Amino acid sequence: MTSQPEILITSDEIRNAVARLAGEIKRDYEGKQPLLVGVLKGSFVFMADLIRQLDLPLEVELITLSSYGAAREASGKVRVVQGLRAAIKGRDVLVIEDIVDTGNTISFLLDYLRKEEPASLKLCSLTDKPSRRRVPVSIDYLGVVLPDKFIVGYGLDWNEKFRYLPDICFLEE
Ligand code: 5GP
Ligand code: MG
Repeated sequence: MTSQPEILITSDEIRNAVARLAGEIKRDYEGKQPLLVGVLKGSFVFMADLIRQLDLPLEVELITLSSYGAAREASGKVRVVQGLRAAIKGRDVLVIEDIVDTGNTISFLLDYLRKEEPASLKLCSLTDKPSRRRVPVSIDYLGVVLPDKFIVGYGLDWNEKFRYLPDICFLEE
């Protein structure tokens, strides 16, 4: 792939979406101490922006799953590469994802976390590509719906490139 990224969702639009999500989450978790579990690497920029608007006594954990390699298609087989350090039993867990595509990765993670018996388990995803779904996933807090394009920027990569772009961009095939 040689094309340059083109802007799909501007940093202003992202900022508005993050502010709206923060408002919804703040309302629903008032009086609680949620444990936010960010899925690396893609969600780190989103998570950093989101938590600074939450004004809740939240805690942060990070988990690394295997997903796309150099190819654009997820293999469908998901592995935990680096797990959680904190116990999540009895906690109000909110998973922070960058994108739900086929749904394979996040449904694996939600099943994995559910086994640890959190008090509650919800999902916040910055983006969603519903046209590509293979496994049903319910997203409790959703930023923006995307067309079927491969996106980069705002934390998302192609072959580890473009994570630093402030906008959500797409790459032409
Ligand atoms: P899944 O197909 O399992 O829902 O997606 C798994 C993972 O693939 C996502 O968490 C994300 O890391 C990556 N992914 C899916 N679609 C895209 C995309 O358009 N761009 C980038 N950079 N990663 C994606
Ligand atoms: Mg991801």
